[in-house]
Amino acid sequence: MRNFFKLISIALMLIIFLSSCSINKKDIEPLSIPIVKTNFLMGTIVEVKIYDNIDDSIITKAFNRISEIEEKMTINNAETSEIIRLNNNAGNKETELSSDTFYVLQKGLHYSHLSQGAFDITIGPLVKLWNIGTDSATVPQNDLIDETLRLIDYKKLSINPSIHIAMLQNTNMKVDLGAIAKGYAADEAARILRDNGVEHAILYLGGNLLTIGRNPNGSPWKIGIQDPFSNRGDFMGIVNIDNKSVVTSGTYERFFEKNGKKYHHIINPKTGYPVENNLSSVSIISDKSIDGDGLSTTLLLLGLKEGRNVIESLSGIEAVFITNDKKVYLSSGLDGKLQITKSEFKLD
Ligand code: AMP
Ligand code: MG
Repeated sequence: MRNFFKLISIALMLIIFLSSCSINKKDIEPLSIPIVKTNFLMGTIVEVKIYDNIDDSIITKAFNRISEIEEKMTINNAETSEIIRLNNNAGNKETELSSDTFYVLQKGLHYSHLSQGAFDITIGPLVKLWNIGTDSATVPQNDLIDETLRLIDYKKLSINPSIHIAMLQNTNMKVDLGAIAKGYAADEAARILRDNGVEHAILYLGGNLLTIGRNPNGSPWKIGIQDPFSNRGDFMGIVNIDNKSVVTSGTYERFFEKNGKKYHHIINPKTGYPVENNLSSVSIISDKSIDGDGLSTTLLLLGLKEGRNVIESLSGIEAVFITNDKKVYLSSGLDGKLQITKSEFKLD
């Protein structure tokens, strides 16, 4: 009998303890003023805004994860970069890659196949030739462009997924993950925040944005879509989202001018010149930022007609296309969901 009472009181104590835990969890109100930290990583400003009452050292963990990804995938630091190793081994030998780099490379190949080479993950030699975004950006000679074009072919990148090995078949070929690596870094930073209990947050990595959960007031986040003809942070419209990524690729993002002509950073692998198809920007709303990053660049390269076909064939991913004449086209899942805030933009 005594044991019976002992057992009952232990069970009661356990119930009281467990229910106090759940009350405590609910009691933690999200912050109305977020914890904000910024850093310069992956060649861009990274900002993390957390609306949970949480130890802010986890933001440092997220930044460290982004640095780790940058070190593996950069084309600027030969000491650490697996992509530089892969490129240096081109035409010569296979390279073993970490699972991070292999995953991003495989995604790059996926979007190269999906667009039949409009997006081409072996675009490296052309990116280097133009040097757009650096002080030494130039319009290359035609014969140099023709020569370099011969090096671009994603079908000559072979991979072995079971042992994470890759090889570029010809010397001087180069992989460039610039169109997709930031998306992966955003996904990984968000994963670390979630794993550490973050429930309401926004991450910005240059043109990539990723939301965790909902706005602390319980409603979806109101996310601005960049006006491609104005300063960064100036929006042409607003969408409501939660737990999604919004990535924009635009011809305005990195460019230089020569003899009155603008040359931007997204190169058509068929011509060797910046792509010209009347699109100014494409924004992708997706669950994973790596897909948003890969697709925003891919659809900008494909142009409006083909880009719309591709987006309609993919479920759970939406797009906003903006043309040079300020016309706005939405994928069908966004119908009625973009609130245009600047009257010069017209929905088609
Ligand atoms: P994003 O800003 O995400 O649209 O990516 C632009 C970056 O992608 C450029 O700075 C290049 O590093 C890379 N890139 C340019 N042209 C292509 C292409 N045709 N296929 C794949 N990557 C490209
Ligand atoms: Mg991209």
